[in-house]
Parts: sequence; C-alpha cells; structure tokens
Amino acid sequence: MSYPGCMVVHMFDVIVEAELDLGSLFASLDRERRRVEARLAELVAEAHRRATYAADGHASVASWCRAGARWSTNEASVHLRLGRLMFASPTVAAAAHDGLVGVAQLHALARAFANPRCGGQLLHVIDLLIEHAQHLSFDEFNLVVRRWEMLADADGAFRDEEATHRDRTANIGLSDGGVDVRAHGASAQGVLISEIFQRFVDAEFVSDWADTVAAHGDAACAALMPRTHAQRRFDAFHHIFLAAASTPPAAQAPEPVVNIVVTLETLEAAVGQAVAGQAASPSRAASDPLWSRSETTNGTLLVPNDILAAALIGHIRRVVVDSAGVIIDLGRKRRLFTGNQRQAVLMTSARCIWPGCDQPSGRCQADHLHEWQHNGATNIANAAPLCSRHNRWKSRGYSTHRDSNGYWHTHRPDGSEIT
Ligand SMILES: [Zn+2]
Repeated sequence: MSYPGCMVVHMFDVIVEAELDLGSLFASLDRERRRVEARLAELVAEAHRRATYAADGHASVASWCRAGARWSTNEASVHLRLGRLMFASPTVAAAAHDGLVGVAQLHALARAFANPRCGGQLLHVIDLLIEHAQHLSFDEFNLVVRRWEMLADADGAFRDEEATHRDRTANIGLSDGGVDVRAHGASAQGVLISEIFQRFVDAEFVSDWADTVAAHGDAACAALMPRTHAQRRFDAFHHIFLAAASTPPAAQAPEPVVNIVVTLETLEAAVGQAVAGQAASPSRAASDPLWSRSETTNGTLLVPNDILAAALIGHIRRVVVDSAGVIIDLGRKRRLFTGNQRQAVLMTSARCIWPGCDQPSGRCQADHLHEWQHNGATNIANAAPLCSRHNRWKSRGYSTHRDSNGYWHTHRPDGSEIT
C-alpha cells in the first residue's frame, strides 16, 4: 500500500547517518515501551474500576478495549491483570513507571498475582521479585515466579499434577500419511522420558557430526550435516523403541537418569506434609523464591511430593551453598570437573549463564570462571554451567563472575558488561 504525498524515511537510514549505536537505541526504545505498557495497564484497570466502558453499551472493559483500539481479548485481560497488580503494589507501580522491569517480567508477575488461591501472598515477596526481575534473564525470572507460585499454592499444584497424571494417555496412530505419536502425562514421568529422549538425540548428533567432520574436515558446519535436527529427533525416537526391544526386561537402568535439586526446607515441608498431613507453612512462601528450589537441573518444576517419591527410590546428595547461592567446595581440587563436582556445578543454574543463552544446564559443560591457565582454582565456587559455544567465547577474552547477591555477570575483553 502506498500513501501519496508521504515521504517515508526508513528509521535505520537515519541511524546510519547519525552513527547511532543500535544497542543504545534498542535499550532506550524498550525502556519507553515499558513505561507506555505501565500506563496502559493502569488506564485499563482504572476504566474497569470506574466502569467507563458501560457508557457506550459495552459489557466489559475487554469489549471497550476491543472497540477503542482493536485489541484482542487476551491483550485486554493481561493489561487489566497488570493494572490490578500495580494498584495493589506501589513497588511494582514505581518500578514499571521508571521502566526498570521488562514488559514480559511485569506480565509474569501479574499472572502469578491473579492466581485466586495464592496471588495475594505475592505482595510478601514483591520487593525481592522486583529486584530479581532487574538482574535475571527472563527465563530464569519466570522460573523463579513459577517456583514461588508452586510452593505458595502447594495443594493447587499437587491437584493439577494429580489430574494430569490421572488423565495420562499415549497413542501411536498409523495412517496412509505416516505415523503420529501423541502422549500426555504428569511431569514426574515426563522429565524421565524427556531426559532419555535427549540422550538418544545427542547420540544421533554425535554420529552425524563425526560423519560431517570425516567428509568435510575443518569446513564442517551444521549446514553440511546429513540430517536436520528434526530428522535426528525422529530417528532418536525410533532408536529408543529398537533399544527397548533388544534389552532384557529386568535390565538395570543407568543412574542417575535425572538430577533433581530441592531446597532442604522444601523437602522438609514435603516430608512434614506427607507424615502429618500438615498444610504448607506460610514462612516457606515468604522466603526468597530464588533459592527455594524444587526442580530438575534443567529447570522443570516438580511438586514437592514427586521429589519426595524420587528421594525414596533414588539417591540424595547434600549440597551446601553460601548466602549468595555459591556451592561451597565439595572436595579436593582437580583439573577437570567430573562426577559429583560436575553435577554440583550444573545444579547452580538451570541454563548456560551467558546472557540471552537458553541452553539447559544438562547440556552444558562445567566451566572454570577464572581460566585454569590463569591460576583459576578448580573448585565449585569457581565454576558455572556454560554451553560449548560460550565456552569457546571465554577463550576470546570474555569473563564471567557471580556477585555477592548471586547474580551472574559477563564482561567483554574491554571490561564492559554484556547486559
Ligand atoms: Zn550458552
């Protein structure tokens, strides 16, 4: 579509002429977007409170938004939700108006606040959560919020999990067009299935990569691999069935298949609940959800009862952390992290700690924060999960460290921080 009489100047032409830095422009536009989002949310909540929408015959604030700005129903409800949280919490309102917290982070908080069973308790930890929202990646922050919600609403989370387990199903449908496999069930079995599937996918990748290097040498890259990621996933799935059919029925599974991290107070509460039928203690929900863990090392949340069941049939390893969440040295110093030490390092974070990276820690290497060549000690306080890509970037002069509050930082060779 063209607009006669208009001269369109492409924004990026202006940037090139003015030699503006795209990164700074991105940051300032996003800050503006956060402020606008905050004002819109408050406006929607205020229109709802005053019933402004009724004047033109609208039945709800959602239809008022749909009519006024062609919003979707979902847009209207998430803004109303956020506006309600801002009215209830001056901390959230101030942070949102100052553009300190990202739009997605604000909506994650508002979603938890809208939980009818435990939302009100969110205000007890809101200062901590606003602080975390400014330092954690979105994925880490969202995990912290969902973790808080699961622990604050233990009965609700357990009921949901039980319902999913009760309704579990699996089907392999054959038709002229091929095969369609569908399965749905609770996360306790899901994390096990997913971990085994991932091991088979990794094996297919290793085999493809070896073939690619043999054929192309130093020029080997992902684009030259014989199969796509999707094709390897299907072949891995097929190989699981072949392996199952060729394994004796009572064969011992390799252990551990899945590593689970649980905070001592969470485990104790689950034990107390199981033994005496006690309700979840309010102090548990009020403590910092950054450290109240109840999940696999890759960040899949598990209800405490499932963790209790896993602890009964699996192994427990006690890991001691300091106030900043750094795992205290477990043993003698060695060159490479292996066995217990490697697992302890991977328990420190659900993902590669490089800003923006979403590789789960189960697929990462235990990295020395200070390079071993430069006198970095080989102990757990000096280590973090880094994926293979970002491990290579470390050798280009980049460095990572964890501050005394437990937040990760990555610095470029010139000392500036990647934010
Ligand atoms: Zn990474």
